[in-house]
Amino acid sequence: MEKYLSQLNEAQLAPTLQKDGPMIVIAGAGSGKTRVLTIRIAYLMSQGVDPFNILSLTFTNKAAREMKGRISEIVGTSEAKNLWMGTFHSVFAKILRIEADRLGYPSNFTIYDAQDSQRLVSAIIKEMGLDKDIYKTKQISSRISSYKNSLITVKAYFQNTDLIEADTMAKRPRMGDIYKNYVDRCFKAGAMDFDDLLLKTNELLTRFPDVLAKYQNRFRYILVDEYQDTNHSQYLIVRALSDKFQNICVVGDDAQSIYAFRGANINNILNFQKDYDDVKMFRLEQNYRSTKNIVNAANSIIDKNQTKLEKVVWTANDDGPKIKVNRLMTDGDEGRFVASSIYENKMEHQLNNSDFAILYRTNAQSRAMEDALRKRNIPYRIYGGQSFYQRKEIKDVLSYLRLIINPADEEALKRVINFPGRGIGQTTIDRLVVAANGYNRSIFDVMKHIDKVEININSGTKNKLMNFVTMIESFQVMNQTANAFDLAEHVTKVTGLIKEFKNDGTPEGIAKMENIEELLNGIKDFVEGQEELADATGSLPEFLEDVALATDLDADKGDADHVALMTIHLAKGLEFPYVYIVGMEEDLFPSGMSMNTRSELEEERRLFYVALTRAETQAYLTYTMSRYRWGKLIDAEPSRFIEEIDENFLEVLTPIDDKRFNPMLSADIFGDIEPNQIRFKKPTKRRSEEKPAKFIPPAKLKPIGKSTGSPDVNLFDGKLTVGNVVEHMRFGKGEVLKIEGVGTDTKAEINFEHGGVKKLLLRFAKLDVL
Ligand code: ATP
Ligand code: MG
Repeated sequence: MEKYLSQLNEAQLAPTLQKDGPMIVIAGAGSGKTRVLTIRIAYLMSQGVDPFNILSLTFTNKAAREMKGRISEIVGTSEAKNLWMGTFHSVFAKILRIEADRLGYPSNFTIYDAQDSQRLVSAIIKEMGLDKDIYKTKQISSRISSYKNSLITVKAYFQNTDLIEADTMAKRPRMGDIYKNYVDRCFKAGAMDFDDLLLKTNELLTRFPDVLAKYQNRFRYILVDEYQDTNHSQYLIVRALSDKFQNICVVGDDAQSIYAFRGANINNILNFQKDYDDVKMFRLEQNYRSTKNIVNAANSIIDKNQTKLEKVVWTANDDGPKIKVNRLMTDGDEGRFVASSIYENKMEHQLNNSDFAILYRTNAQSRAMEDALRKRNIPYRIYGGQSFYQRKEIKDVLSYLRLIINPADEEALKRVINFPGRGIGQTTIDRLVVAANGYNRSIFDVMKHIDKVEININSGTKNKLMNFVTMIESFQVMNQTANAFDLAEHVTKVTGLIKEFKNDGTPEGIAKMENIEELLNGIKDFVEGQEELADATGSLPEFLEDVALATDLDADKGDADHVALMTIHLAKGLEFPYVYIVGMEEDLFPSGMSMNTRSELEEERRLFYVALTRAETQAYLTYTMSRYRWGKLIDAEPSRFIEEIDENFLEVLTPIDDKRFNPMLSADIFGDIEPNQIRFKKPTKRRSEEKPAKFIPPAKLKPIGKSTGSPDVNLFDGKLTVGNVVEHMRFGKGEVLKIEGVGTDTKAEINFEHGGVKKLLLRFAKLDVL
């Protein structure tokens, strides 16, 4: 233990050795908060605290696994295994299974993922005969989610005239009925969605004092990482569980609170001292992660926020290189720049792919990066987006497996009842749903007793339904003895899934087959991994639980060496030597949807702080001059966040002798040019801050390196004449209608097949003469 304590500085030791009582560690990025939590847990155990009595809540399962790994090194695997460690969702799913009967749920309840719940919402909207343009599935789903996270049950909803009025004003008077329907249907299907895992835990702890007492006694020591991003529901759970012993240790950074849009409440951290008596407050100031340039630049950014706790962050690390800023023409150029920069850095500094991360504000930005990385043969992995478990063929297999465990699972049933095709049509399914609602039973129940229920289905189809029931029941029998792998393999064969994709014969079909094989491999790994553990058996329910709560970060086995691509939200808590933050443009980052109020803008700024502080050695910021958004090529302005960084920490890669990139000149030169061509206009929209963000004139900055954003072809006068047919990267083929001006000012009017007549300044136009 001594050895590990010696890995902490004095400021870190204090909260580590503070065994009892409520305490909070507030500190900036990279200051060792997560390290303190880890070593603290080991320390508690060395002080005789039973690992069964320690609950540690982390942001991802991956973080929990890593922590457990480190603790195992210190105290040994067998001891560490008994710790309760995981995300809020995974820990409370476990508790809910144990206590399910209290709430009228089966212990084998299914966990609906976002896709399942949206499918259900959409089905309900359709069944209720509502206009799907007014009742938009995604919006309705997110309303339901926010009710749940604010602990507004259906009953509470109908008692809340404000809510009803708001929904009526929003032309959605049936919102409450949809909510009620949705909740009833989930209950009947024995399913909980993600928000239920928190809502139901709260219900459990409030309604049943004996259950509360049981878990209060069990979790004598509670630790929470990333406390700034807990929402109200999570806050109440932690508060209730820690109420008896008050041995609660939370760590966080108000400057990294980035989940307000999902209900995270920064006040949880700000008010912690009011919630408990005699709170010990600790601060850590030394950053061990990043260079001076990065730490200081990050400080200069967060300084712009009004709502913040004053904090000092410094580092003894080297100055390191400055943050490199580069301006590119298009997202394609941006991708190419990032890919070649990664390549060059790798060669120059002898690095692995895994030393690099590309971070972006929105998932859609990954495509240009992917294209460029592929061309360069640089292995990469996208986190977020469509995860493996969301792919259709995988969900199909999983749905069969879910049905075995919980045949009431409506979404799983609807997915596979006629896949592979068994001649059970949509009309039949609709009638089954109506009957199930009428009898207040699950669809599977209705099918099981199809001969006895009143339903307009012919006997041929009834036979098909019964065959399906018999098949699922045969799997259930097998499930009593077989392990998850043998069962899953059997299921993929007997249901005809494998055959379906094999017969398909297309490359997509083959890819799907391979994915299913990959899934089976995964199940095998899981079974083998679990068999070593005392409290697990490698059974199917355990596997499904793992899958249901897996996040994309968790799927990372860390075996292959790849560049990581992810949204900034996902990157929280992680660190990489080289970080590229791309798409540093107004309306993109800060997001156009988050600039209407100061608090929204401040959240975006915190997001930028999180992004920058992931970097250990070198950060890059890139932005483009034009970008396709919502199907249109639009002008892009550099993000105000670039300008907010103290310029001493920046190095601008774009050469200043290149007039094209001089924003001061561009306004005049391009005055009458189509906006979709190269243009650089000064930021105009300033919705939420008095001080307008101005762009740093390049003259202030030292020119370094070569521009990678230069157009492929520059055409000057003389080369092009009226009647020429040309090709443009974006607008396709076009005919030259008119040429005007001379020298570098020559412009051409061209009629393009995509986009019609455009006037282009030839000096910059990316044109090929055909
Ligand atoms: P974030 O706010 O980003 O979650 P954090 O405060 O949790 O950051 P850690 O991830 O715990 O910070 O630590 C940042 C890095 O610094 C890690 O690589 C960690 O191993 C290292 N580190 C922390 N404390 C020390 C120390 N006392 N000596 C050496 N390295 C340290
Ligand atoms: Mg951390």
